[in-house]
Amino acid sequence: MQKQPMKTDLKNLNQEQLVQFVESLGQPAFRGRQILAWIYKPGVTDFSQMTDLAKEFRAILAESACMSRFEESMVERSKDGAVKFGFRLDDGLVIESVLIPEEDRNTLCVSSQVGCAMGCTFCLTGAMGFHRNLTTAEIVNQVCAVQQWTLLRGKGALTNIVFMGMGEPLANFENLINAIAILTEQRGLDFSNRRITVSTCGLVPQMMELGEQTDVNLAVSLHATDDAVRSTLMPINKKYPVSVLIEACRDYRQKRRKRIMFEYTLLDGINDTDADAEQLAALLRDLPCKINLLAANPVADSAFQSPAAAKVLRFQQILRNHGFTVLIRQSRGEDISAACGQLAGTGWDETKVERWEESESISADGEN
Ligand code: SF4
Repeated sequence: MQKQPMKTDLKNLNQEQLVQFVESLGQPAFRGRQILAWIYKPGVTDFSQMTDLAKEFRAILAESACMSRFEESMVERSKDGAVKFGFRLDDGLVIESVLIPEEDRNTLCVSSQVGCAMGCTFCLTGAMGFHRNLTTAEIVNQVCAVQQWTLLRGKGALTNIVFMGMGEPLANFENLINAIAILTEQRGLDFSNRRITVSTCGLVPQMMELGEQTDVNLAVSLHATDDAVRSTLMPINKKYPVSVLIEACRDYRQKRRKRIMFEYTLLDGINDTDADAEQLAALLRDLPCKINLLAANPVADSAFQSPAAAKVLRFQQILRNHGFTVLIRQSRGEDISAACGQLAGTGWDETKVERWEESESISADGEN
């Protein structure tokens, strides 16, 4: 990522903050809005390209500000079409994002932290430990870079963003909220709130705050209904046990009127019995929601196994019999360690770096 030190990185600023920034330079508020639109216009990499700004002001901007971006990434392609990107940050750490192309959409799974402090026992990112929070710019730049990559290859624009990559997004709350503002601002990346999903392991206060401050979708990683089992899988359960989490979800739903998505990873012999399915149905009774089931992905040295396909289908059927909408999420990118719980920022072949082509050649509709 190219970033000049001591300058304000405008990619860290949402519209309101950009307005404040230009005002601090003695400019009217609307200049901030103009600049925001330029920053996220495909192909604009330099202040000199912002042709409706006075030349003198462009020179001041070049002196005091920069627009960071990822210009290259390590790229790995899965047999199933998923693409994993490894971005090296200024301090040498690596984060990963995963593009999941489908017939009618391009979903990008983005990271919010380097590593994770939550320590879920089935997750490789958790095993890395926590290194640091990503800045707003580092979150947004994953989206910008992959968007550029897809457009340059004629694969269309990104349609959906899911915060399910490395890290617990709600533990990096302020930068997450800022990034969501930039993603959804019309002059920014202009994603609909409906197309953005934030996933949490269950940080209850931040979850409620997310509902207050944004209108994006919420996914809650549940994975067990029993406190003893869930605390073993997800240490956060000791702080916010199942009853507290579900009560908060009911409250969230009442205020937001949006269906929550519950993620439930099936681990063989741990949480996948008929009784587990019945208990899950009882726990979520009368709570409008969707349930995503996922058979555990293989993780090196993990004690957990994936249940047989028949067991997964049976679990789904029991929940359906209780009237729930239940999807079995197909794992994508397993062969390149890009599936859920497999992101660790390691094992990259550094010779497989792809540089983006000259961004000036991209237009907004992807033609080049
Ligand atoms: Fe962190 Fe999510 Fe992994 Fe848990 S599952 S350790 S919250 S990245």
